[in-house]
Amino acid sequence: MGRLKHSDLAADDRRQRKATLGDMAVQGLDVFCWCNRCGHNRVLATHGLMARLGAEFPVPEVGTRLRCSMCQSKDVATRPNWRGLGPVTRHWGAEGDADFAAES
Ligand SMILES: [Zn+2]
Repeated sequence: MGRLKHSDLAADDRRQRKATLGDMAVQGLDVFCWCNRCGHNRVLATHGLMARLGAEFPVPEVGTRLRCSMCQSKDVATRPNWRGLGPVTRHWGAEGDADFAAES
């Protein structure tokens, strides 16, 4: 593992350190995406996002890189897809990211 900057990490870790995509992968969690404009939502695979954005990318900021394919809005919220928060629809399937296109 790389060397960490202790002073910086100590300050960040003490309180609200944002979850990163790497954290999500370690915990086996995917990313829940929600369009604030039309309510469209789906779960994106963490590994696919990590391949594009990197393991250090903060989960709450993933939405800034996404665009809703239903209404083309870029106002997309993202959070860890915690298990047990209610049923997660599998309607669109477990893989693929056709419903939220990543900005390039
Ligand atoms: Zn939308």
